[in-house]
Amino acid sequence: MGFPDTRLRRLRKNDTIRNMLADPMPGPEKFVWPVFVVEGRGIKQAIESMPGQFRYSIDTLLEAVGEVMAMGIKSLMIFGVVSAEQKSKSGEYAWKQDGLVQQAICELKKIYPDLLIFTDVCVCEYTSHGHCGILDDKGCLVNDPSLELLQKMAVSHAQAGADGVAPSAMLDGQIQAIRSSLDSAGQENTILMSYSTKFASSMYGPFREAADSAPSCGDRKSYQADYRNERAAIRESIEDESEGADILMVKPSLLYLDLIKQIRQESMLPLAAYNVSGEYSMLIATADKGWGDLKSMVRESIFSLSRAGSDIIISYWANQYDKLLKD
Ligand SMILES: [Zn+2]
Repeated sequence: MGFPDTRLRRLRKNDTIRNMLADPMPGPEKFVWPVFVVEGRGIKQAIESMPGQFRYSIDTLLEAVGEVMAMGIKSLMIFGVVSAEQKSKSGEYAWKQDGLVQQAICELKKIYPDLLIFTDVCVCEYTSHGHCGILDDKGCLVNDPSLELLQKMAVSHAQAGADGVAPSAMLDGQIQAIRSSLDSAGQENTILMSYSTKFASSMYGPFREAADSAPSCGDRKSYQADYRNERAAIRESIEDESEGADILMVKPSLLYLDLIKQIRQESMLPLAAYNVSGEYSMLIATADKGWGDLKSMVRESIFSLSRAGSDIIISYWANQYDKLLKD
């Protein structure tokens, strides 16, 4: 049966029928808020390229988390941002027992035991060269020796009380290596959320300002996925599932909805979408120019992540949930 018997507009004729047939906007329980922690006290430093986001010292982070918890946001992804003096060739600070992230986890858990804490596990925020592991003489990242750094870092976060660790280096074998170290350290209940399909993307610019983590030379194309190679990008996630990941991830998200959908079909694991800094800031910039309404753009973009098949949404919008996403 076709037109004029079929008229699809009947089912869109008013708000009530449209709302009845709509899928729900993802609730606050679906979100993970990525946060940047710095040393010191009383610091809440605006990140210029990401309006609405800040670098927090631990004390001000505790306050900010109280505010997001009141909106129903119950999960964080923590990134440590340390001064140049703390950085070294192999990033030892990353697994210091009383390091910045480790302290932040302890303090947060004391006040908010129900907060679900994930930590980013990669040494690029702690290496003097800004790459995600150990470099050889030619400046090339060597895979296997670098795994040990990630193992130590993941175990130290788990021991500090993180619920989950999220390795983001895209090194081969990192999931298996980290899982076995966590288990040997008695941390078999630590969730392993893999940044399993993470692209070498142009959308990370504002984050690099926030985390001060741009590589001092070269780029990360030899370890992060190539957006022109779809099958390899899917293999990355399948491989991480076989190595023991509990949760898979696609990063960035909005430009990769097709990959979210395909990985959703390839795997039964929960899937996270990382709505990255560039995807956040471009909507703000568009709204600032008067070229679009921020709230409408945020809602439409977040909804698309859920429609494509994401179970978990890692997004900077989380701390503005009530203003922008609540129905
Ligand atoms: Zn890295």
